[in-house]
Amino acid sequence: MYFSQVIGQEDVKKKLVSSVKAGRIPHAQLFSGPDGSGSLALAIAYAQYIACNDRTDNDACGHCTNCLKIAKLTHPDLHFAFPVNTTRKVTKDPVSDNFINEWREFVISNPYFRSIQWYDWIGIENKQGLLNRKESEEIIRKLSFKSFESDYKFLIIWLPEKMNASSANILLKLIEEPPEKTIFLLVSEHPEQIVSTILSRTQAVKLSRIDDKVLFQALADKYDLTNEEISNTVRLAKGSYIQALEMILSFEENQINFERFVQIMRLCYSRSFLEINAWVEEMSVMGREKLKNFFIYALRLVRENFILNLQSKELVYLTKKEEEFSKKFHPFINGNNVVHIYKELNKASEDIERNAYAKIVLFDMVLHLMKLIPNKKHLENQQ
Ligand SMILES: [Zn+2]
Repeated sequence: MYFSQVIGQEDVKKKLVSSVKAGRIPHAQLFSGPDGSGSLALAIAYAQYIACNDRTDNDACGHCTNCLKIAKLTHPDLHFAFPVNTTRKVTKDPVSDNFINEWREFVISNPYFRSIQWYDWIGIENKQGLLNRKESEEIIRKLSFKSFESDYKFLIIWLPEKMNASSANILLKLIEEPPEKTIFLLVSEHPEQIVSTILSRTQAVKLSRIDDKVLFQALADKYDLTNEEISNTVRLAKGSYIQALEMILSFEENQINFERFVQIMRLCYSRSFLEINAWVEEMSVMGREKLKNFFIYALRLVRENFILNLQSKELVYLTKKEEEFSKKFHPFINGNNVVHIYKELNKASEDIERNAYAKIVLFDMVLHLMKLIPNKKHLENQQ
């Protein structure tokens, strides 16, 4: 991870860089900031900058062996501890190392995420992520070795607030009497929940919300959206890159769901079984969560079209594309069929939720919808 990959936070970066140049690197630091400001990304970039053999004035070089290994999060002197819990695969005494491959993949693909997204990724389901006593023992063991390839050993603890009292005590001891050449970088979502004795022994590195202009540029560089769409996203994201990403992804998902909805309504009308089959095939491999989102989307569009049919335009919330489509589609959703269509979509959604076989659920739903959607010439002409 490079400083250049951390969005904004230029003042904090400067301070971190100058601490390295001056050779005054505090051995325990706590990175925190508002939601989506990039504390974890910054902590990793900082470790890389310290370890880099050929650092420039403002970033790591990117070609030395330390850089290459830290970029992949596989450097033997870069240790991580993060909250975990039991899963289907790890059924007993879970520690970070059980999930290190998942962690690397997740962080490298996007270092801006919330704890809930991480838990979802490793599948601990509704349990809380924790840093337990066994984790602390692992930490002691790892830090007892001399550094292998870098001058320093790094321990990045993500969410130290998830430590229980006994593991927090072990960490406190380590920070008070640190093993030689060891740098502790704590990264917190809720520093106010960290044991005060640990807080008082760490130097605070505070990030601020990402500046709107900087966020705009970061999104414009990465996503193919109009300036207006990016401006809207930035306005609603309130300086959080995570929030912005969530909006863009749901925006993209909406687009896809829109296309799938239009497609199936058209096929219900044209009754082309070959294409219906292809649609079902494609939908059935999307996964449960995405299918559920499709049904939420479809229900919304049906509802909005029914309201349109009742002529109460002021109640309708549609994007431009949806509006265009709905102008022609709304006559098909009326008082005679809306309840039944709703029921079919809801039933399919519930069956998917219960893990029923997606292909059968979808095919069954389409057969029912075909009977419910009026078979008039309009629909075909409109598309
Ligand atoms: Zn380097």
